[in-house]
Amino acid sequence: MDESFHRAFEVLQIIEEHGFSAYLVGGCVRDYVLQRDVGDIDIATSATPKQIQTIFEKVIPVGIEHGTVIVRHRQNSYEVTTFRIDGDYSDQRHPDSVRFIDKIDLDLARRDFTINALAMDREKNIIDLFSGKEDLKKKTIRTVGDSLSRFNEDALRMIRALRFSSQLGFTIEVNTLQAIQQLKAEIEQVAIERILHEMTKFFAGKHICIGLRYLYATQIYQFLPVFKDNLTLIKKIPENILPLSSFSEVIALLHLVHPNISILEWVKKWKCANVIKKEATHLVDNVLYYRAHDLDPWLVYQVKQDYHKQFFRLVKILFGEIDQTTFLSLYHDLAIHSRKELQLNGNDLLDMFPQSKPGPWVQEILNTVEKLVVLRQIKNDKTMIKEWILCNPQK
Ligand code: ATP
Ligand code: MG
Repeated sequence: MDESFHRAFEVLQIIEEHGFSAYLVGGCVRDYVLQRDVGDIDIATSATPKQIQTIFEKVIPVGIEHGTVIVRHRQNSYEVTTFRIDGDYSDQRHPDSVRFIDKIDLDLARRDFTINALAMDREKNIIDLFSGKEDLKKKTIRTVGDSLSRFNEDALRMIRALRFSSQLGFTIEVNTLQAIQQLKAEIEQVAIERILHEMTKFFAGKHICIGLRYLYATQIYQFLPVFKDNLTLIKKIPENILPLSSFSEVIALLHLVHPNISILEWVKKWKCANVIKKEATHLVDNVLYYRAHDLDPWLVYQVKQDYHKQFFRLVKILFGEIDQTTFLSLYHDLAIHSRKELQLNGNDLLDMFPQSKPGPWVQEILNTVEKLVVLRQIKNDKTMIKEWILCNPQK
């Protein structure tokens, strides 16, 4: 079993030795029962953040006002949160207030779905007040308590239901589903950053096809940025979609199937970080190049190594499997792998033309030379590159 999961029981023991109760809670218990890989480990405790700070040496105060700190124990991190009940989510970002309590029951009751409302003690006994284990067996996503009031409290939970269906391949229980259908418009009140976080996990789900069916069936997409202004977009998502590992990849795919929506519009309306725009553009440019030219050394040179998998996946979804063996052998045989390996640089060019001032022409020549070297039309040799430049005046 995973080392950090194993060590979590030591954290529980240490907290208990100081007279408090502590349990593993939420996703890690769910995933343990499902025998899936356990992600982050959350611990719920009767100790307050201050008390946790006195018990452990390394404590990072990430959200003290909500009762959360990160405890570092033997190189592993654990999110430790005091048992609490939440106040209203009037800004749809954070609960207005939280109240610390000393028993786990109400802390489990505030959680979104029965499968996420499980706790595990130091002896690996599971506390299951809402039949979460049964729902895990039945592969069902069901709210804890009345679905309408739980979604009214925090509308993001509707998107979370969809993302768990996409991750786990589970069915959404009928009352929970009807409540989503009824309250879907409320998602517009939720901060886009929270939706983005869940939708990124949604598109990365192993069972994305199931998730997409719910996205369509509930019509909640009609209240999501970009989707709501382009109601035909949802139907353009290819049925053979695969789990996408980042929101950049999501934007790239959705832009490629619906080019009228620019990458910039996606990034603005979903308030994505700049890096997402850069990554999406990189993927789109390369997929479009592939569509026009098929596999060639310039394409293989262009696709950055960290993006190989995402690029292969997009091509597979849109045009069918790429010949990865050819791609990798072309990559292996490239004359250069980056601009740095080019035997001629900007200074060499300035030396060649001492009467010319530095300017965009330097980059332009380097770009041309780079492409010709990659396509093996010039040898990567300083003298030969210089000769080529002199015979092909461009300035
Ligand atoms: P993952 O494995 O993807 O991290 P998770 O179940 O751990 O899934 P988190 O978003 O990390 O999901 O939340 C941790 C736990 O906190 C959940 O399992 C759930 O019990 C509770 N939770 C999180 N968000 C909400 C919410 N909006 N409303 C109610 N409970 C929530
Ligand atoms: Mg988690």
